[in-house]
Amino acid sequence: MELRSVSKTYGQGAAEVSALHELTVDFERGSFTAVMGPSGAGKSTFLHCAAGLDRPTSGSVWLGGTDLATLDEAQLTMLRRERVGFIFQAYNLLGSLTVAENITLPLLLAGRSADPGRLEHVARRVGLSDRLRNRPAQLSGGQQQRVAVARALITKPEVIFADEPTGALDSRTGRQVLALLREIVDRDGNTVVMVTHDPVAASFAQRVVFLADGTFAEVMEAPTAARVAARMTRLEEW
Ligand code: ADP
Repeated sequence: MELRSVSKTYGQGAAEVSALHELTVDFERGSFTAVMGPSGAGKSTFLHCAAGLDRPTSGSVWLGGTDLATLDEAQLTMLRRERVGFIFQAYNLLGSLTVAENITLPLLLAGRSADPGRLEHVARRVGLSDRLRNRPAQLSGGQQQRVAVARALITKPEVIFADEPTGALDSRTGRQVLALLREIVDRDGNTVVMVTHDPVAASFAQRVVFLADGTFAEVMEAPTAARVAARMTRLEEW
């Protein structure tokens, strides 16, 4: 997945705001990247453009061999359902559905049948094989977020976007979810792009891409929480 010279402006004339400015960044298959930056740096805008939730003003977003700009709204919706996985801060599970139904919902929406073997596989992957008949409210926050990870995995997406995935969790539970994200990359070859402001969360990624003022500022390989925190402090002082 790749962004080439992506710009996004909101509003017009005197009210025009440049949220992204010619951002070029590449996310290799099988990699785990954290995207960080000070408030207003363009992280949410990046996520929306990269995931096909919003369209750039200029530049292009590529997923595999597909230029998202060539897709109409219906095709973009299909792409988001079938080729992209999402994990949100607030889990976004449906309370009236069972864990199994929540996990397989993306398949249902895509009009594909839920292969029982696939459901078992992803449930085992996230450690919830024995909770499939439960409702989300019967699970802890960490377990609910693991349901969300399983739901993101079910379609075998080309990229999984995580938006502050541990923002609602205590730090120990959060670390377990982050370790799981790292595992689905290292062991299973998934691609994860995580937006976060938390240096500890970022330290679970293989690299951190820092944004500042809507553009690429720098990249850090093999991040540690201390190095990330130090870099963030410097970017905020800019
Ligand atoms: P971050 O997620 O890093 O805090 P955002 O992507 O939310 O950054 O915002 C980047 C810039 O774009 C900010 O200056 C913000 O005020 C502006 N912005 C974001 N969304 C909108 C919008 N819908 N309308 C106008 N300005 C926006």
